[in-house]
Amino acid sequence: MKEISEGQRSLLEQFRRQGHSIDRGINLIYHFVRQKSEDEPLDPAWTTIWDKHKKYARTRLPRSLFKSIDETLARIELIDKEVFGIRINENTRITFLLGAGASTPSGIPAVDKLLSELWKRARKIGREDLDRLAKWCNERGITNIEDLLTAAYISNFAAKNRNITSLLDYFIFSGGREVSEEEEEEEEYLPSRHRPSITSEIDVSSISSLQDTLQTLFALLTSTMISAVPNHANEAIVDFVKEHKETTIITTNYDGCMDEALLRTGMGLKGTIASHNEHRDNSDAVELIKMHGSINWAYCDSCHDAREFDLLELKKLYEEDKISYPVMGICKNCGGLRRPLLVPPLSFKFLMFPDLVNIWNSARQSIEGADYLVVVGYSFSEADAYIMKVISRSMFITKNQKMIIINTNKNLVPVLRERFSAHLDGFDDRRILQVCKNCEEILPNILKSIRGKARKNKKTKSTPKKSTR
Ligand SMILES: [Zn+2]
Repeated sequence: MKEISEGQRSLLEQFRRQGHSIDRGINLIYHFVRQKSEDEPLDPAWTTIWDKHKKYARTRLPRSLFKSIDETLARIELIDKEVFGIRINENTRITFLLGAGASTPSGIPAVDKLLSELWKRARKIGREDLDRLAKWCNERGITNIEDLLTAAYISNFAAKNRNITSLLDYFIFSGGREVSEEEEEEEEYLPSRHRPSITSEIDVSSISSLQDTLQTLFALLTSTMISAVPNHANEAIVDFVKEHKETTIITTNYDGCMDEALLRTGMGLKGTIASHNEHRDNSDAVELIKMHGSINWAYCDSCHDAREFDLLELKKLYEEDKISYPVMGICKNCGGLRRPLLVPPLSFKFLMFPDLVNIWNSARQSIEGADYLVVVGYSFSEADAYIMKVISRSMFITKNQKMIIINTNKNLVPVLRERFSAHLDGFDDRRILQVCKNCEEILPNILKSIRGKARKNKKTKSTPKKSTR
């Protein structure tokens, strides 16, 4: 492959210094794209530059010209080539952080598809309050399951604590100002806008029952994940872990794909609910930290016992139709209600499961101790504020820590670079490396390459980089 030309490099440098007007910028991009030779590769930085200029360029350039520039720049492969220059040694500590995107190849629906699935299931139950809620959400374009579950949790909590309900009303609706007469009159015609006086009429039991049903539906939804099987990304991680002991895997996924891939090779797991409870010290086991729970974990509402069931066994029994998946069960300890331990993505939710505090602590330690964080299909969503804070702190205290972000969303890395630069003084944004590609395709190559095992190294430096530790 041809190298990036000196001309391209100095042009990018000009954009970095941002010394020119937007018109001049468009002009420079236009001439560069027209004149560059067919086989000269494009630096990924062009995507960000073009995103900034695109809207204006559309109004300035003839349609056909705009289209040809846009198409050329859309073909850029957004992979920072430093990724293939990384070499680790046996002491380099690697922490994987897996998000929903790491399980998409196993056929697990993306978060944005979950709510419509949930409504489909709700219809089967035939409950009027659910139908009403579904209709209300649809009419308002509410499509995010995280928003729905968060609102249900908060409402249930607030409804049971009257003072909090009125305070919420104060903060959100009135802000403490007096309601004018006109507004009061208006209210008569707008009965949907609730005032504090209505607090006393809140039907606590129906809110609680609705939240309970939503939680059960959510468990029902995730139970479909039990049939999912490991994908190439999971397998690539297993191959890597076998050779490289200094590895931790953190996942926010409930499914058992990563666990199964590891267990099938006979490896033990540590960092799960069972290993925490039993204080097992299995030094050969792989640390797999499931921050949001797991389909094979259960939690008792009454005695707060957290339990892990054998994933492979559970799966086998389910596949052979010898048991149905226990969305709700009876606790053997106390006879209370046992449900799957699944944490809906809420930033405060883990406080409800004391056992998860240990798990979250281990996750924090693994993130802070890593030389490289390999982040696969994780979207850094707002609901996971805790993880973002931990990573941000970790990048601050461990100055040479780097992140490799494998994600098909091309905007993720630019946003992260901006966010980290804004929060951390003098942050070098090249510590965040971008790999914008399907994880099943690229992760096996990257992991082989950093172990120095890639079959053909495309132009990697001849002197392997020393490990950062
Ligand atoms: Zn119990």
